Amino acid sequence: MTRKRHIYGINFILWLSFIAFAAVIILLTWLFQTTLLRVFFGAEMTDDLTSVGEEAYDRIGFLMQIPGGEEEINRFMVQVMNENDLVTIYLLDTSGNILYPTEVIDPDGYGFVVEPDVAVFRRAVTYLEETVAGGQDASRGLAAVVSGENYVYIARYPAGRYAVDMNTTGDIYLYVDYSTQLAEAAMGSMRVQLIAITVIVIFLALVISVLLSLWLTKPIKRITRAAKRMAAGDFSVNFKGEYSYAEMDALADTLDYAKEEIGKSDALQKEVLANVTHDLKTPLTMIKAYASMIQEISGADPEKRAKHTQVIIDESDRLTSLVNDILNISKIRSGMDTLKLRRLNLSDFIRTVLERFDYLVETQGFTIEREIEEGLYTEADAEKLEQVVYNLVGNAVNYTGEDKKISIGLHREEKGTLRFTVTDTGKGIPEEERATIWDRYYRSAETHKRPIKGTGLGLSIVKTVLLKHDFRFGVESEVGKGSTFYVLFPEK
Ligand code: ADP
Repeated sequence: MTRKRHIYGINFILWLSFIAFAAVIILLTWLFQTTLLRVFFGAEMTDDLTSVGEEAYDRIGFLMQIPGGEEEINRFMVQVMNENDLVTIYLLDTSGNILYPTEVIDPDGYGFVVEPDVAVFRRAVTYLEETVAGGQDASRGLAAVVSGENYVYIARYPAGRYAVDMNTTGDIYLYVDYSTQLAEAAMGSMRVQLIAITVIVIFLALVISVLLSLWLTKPIKRITRAAKRMAAGDFSVNFKGEYSYAEMDALADTLDYAKEEIGKSDALQKEVLANVTHDLKTPLTMIKAYASMIQEISGADPEKRAKHTQVIIDESDRLTSLVNDILNISKIRSGMDTLKLRRLNLSDFIRTVLERFDYLVETQGFTIEREIEEGLYTEADAEKLEQVVYNLVGNAVNYTGEDKKISIGLHREEKGTLRFTVTDTGKGIPEEERATIWDRYYRSAETHKRPIKGTGLGLSIVKTVLLKHDFRFGVESEVGKGSTFYVLFPEK
C-alpha cells in the first residue's frame, strides 16, 4: 500500500488542537490585559485627577487672595498629597520652577523631593493652550495624558491676581502629577501571572492531549491488530471488547459482522472450489475415456462411434456451460460489464428462449405449458436477460416433479408492470432456504439427478442481472407442491 498524502496521528492532531485552543485563550487574555485594562485604568485615573485638580484649583485660588495665606497654601498642598498617595501637586511658574509648596511641613517627615519633569510640564502647558485656543472651556483646568504614560492635571491662574507672595509676576500653573507607578506595578505582576498561566496551560494541554489520545487510540490499535490477523486469514479473531466510547463499539460490531460474512464466503469458496474441480473433472474424464474408446475400439464401427462421439459432444457442452457460468458471474460481479439496454418484445423473446428446451420436450417427455400474453414490451439487456430466463426455466426442468410439467406465464399484472412466472411441480423450497438459494454457489444439501448440469451459480447470475436492472423478483413455494419463480418487468 502506498500512501501519497502524509497523514498525522491522532495524538499530534489532538495536541495541536489543544495548543491552538490554549493559544487563542492566552492571546485574548494578553490583549485584554494590555489594551482594555489600560483603557479602564486611564479613564479612572483621569476622573480621579480631575476631581483632585478642580478641588485644589478652587481652594488655592481662594487662598491666594488672602494676604499671608502662604502657610495655608503649603498646608493644603501637603494635605492633598498625604490623602492621595499617588498624587504630587505643584504651583509652577511659566518655566516650570516650583513656587509652592515651599517647605516641608509634614510631621511624618514628608520630604518634597520629586522635581516635576519640565518637559512633560511644557507639553501640558501647550496642550492647555491648544485646548483654550480650540474654544473649549479650560478655566478650571484639564486632566490629560500627555506623552504616553503621564497622567497630569494642569490649570492656569492669570498673572497678578494674587495677594500672597508668589516670587513671580507671570502666570502661575497648578500642576498635578498622577504617578502611574502603582498601575504599572499591578500590570507588571499580572504579566508575571500571565506568563505563569501560559506555561501551565501549555503544559496541561500537552498532558491532556496525550492522555486523551492514549484513551482514543488504544481501542483503534486493538482493532487494527485484530483486522490484520483477519486479513492474514484468521477468522477466529474477536473485535468486540470493552470499549470506552460508543463509536468504537459500533465499529467492532460492524467488523465482527463483516468477519462472519467474509468467513462464510471464504468457507463457501473453498467448498465451491472443490465442487467446481469435481464438476470439471467428471466431463474431462468422460471425454478422455470416450476418445480412447473411439481410438481403440469403436473407430471402425460407425454406430458405436456416433454414440461415443455424442457423449464427447455432450460432455464438452457441459464443460462449456460450466466455464461460461463461472466467467459470466465474475464478469457481471466485477462490474466490467455494463447493461446494453434496449426496448424488446418480451413475449417473443421468452418464446425464443423456450425453444432451446424443445429437445427436452421431444426426447425426455417434459411438458412446457405457456400462457404468454402477446405484444408486451420492456427495456432490458437482451443478452443478460436470456441467461435469466434460461436459468429459471433450466432450474424448473431440473427440480420439477415426476410429471415433468413446467408452466411459463407472462401477463400484465397491473398498469405498467409485467409479471413473468416459471412454475414447477417439484418438492418446493423450504422457507429457510428461500433467501439463501440466490447466493453464489449455494446448492441445497441433497444431490439431485437432473437433466441439465448445474453449477450452483444459476440463481446467483439471475439475482445479479436483475438487481443491476433494478427489476423486482422472487420465489413463492409450497413444500411438496412446487415453486414459482417470478420477475416483474416495467412495461415500456
Ligand atoms: P444449481 O441449480 O446449479 O444447483 P442454482 O443457483 O440454479 O444452482 O440454484 C441454487 C439452489 O436453489 C439449487 O441447488 C436448489 O437447491 C435450489 N433451487 C433452484 N431452483 C429450484 C426449484 N425450481 N425448485 C426447487 N429448488 C430450487
